[in-house]
Amino acid sequence: MSSDQIDLFNLDDTAQPSPEDFDPALIPTDVTIPVPPGTYSTMASLKEPCNRCSRCGLGATRTNAVIGRGNPQSDILIIGEGPGQTEDETGLPFIGKAGQLLEKILAAVQLDSEADVYIANIVKCRPPGNRKPSDKEMQACMPYLQEQIRLMDPKIILLMGATAVQGMLGEKTGITKIRGQWREQGQRLYMPMLHPAYLLRNPARKEGSPKWYTWQDIQAVRAKYDELCQVR
Ligand code: SF4
Repeated sequence: MSSDQIDLFNLDDTAQPSPEDFDPALIPTDVTIPVPPGTYSTMASLKEPCNRCSRCGLGATRTNAVIGRGNPQSDILIIGEGPGQTEDETGLPFIGKAGQLLEKILAAVQLDSEADVYIANIVKCRPPGNRKPSDKEMQACMPYLQEQIRLMDPKIILLMGATAVQGMLGEKTGITKIRGQWREQGQRLYMPMLHPAYLLRNPARKEGSPKWYTWQDIQAVRAKYDELCQVR
């Protein structure tokens, strides 16, 4: 594992101060200020700091930071890349055309986007022109996402697209090569999947098409969810 990857994960709790040791109000002002586990007590409490955050340059052009939507008590977390224009305008993730397709993908296996999953992104602020966030931007924002994961404690994390895979697992392998392959890390299961925006650009449904692979992958997710979360 590279040092970059360790930084991205930011999991070394022992090296971090407790929230009592410093002023958490300073977190959004400087990327060098760590975000110790326990800094935030609810998903909603991330909204204000993210909306005034300048830990990376994306804060300069945002309209709204996008924290997440759905059920933070559910067992499935879905992570995308970053907000697009509609998300930036509304402060909600996955609500444009890609979001509508995500709803359909979930509904195909009887998962409701408001009740059965929580949806967030690797970065909270929109990259201009919908470009991919840089490694530095992902690293700057990762502590907020790690807090969301700590608060939610999901069993299954769906990684929608290559940026989510890189941000969470540090893997730069092409998404078409690793989609559908479970990864296990820190007692959580990660499923890399094709991003719905990619599916919109590739509408074919025949066997071997991106949509066909996504159908296989979401069925695998449903089966694992039933195995892990429904039968307790
Ligand atoms: S993307 Fe994340 S780190 Fe960058 S300004 Fe927005 S909230 Fe802060």
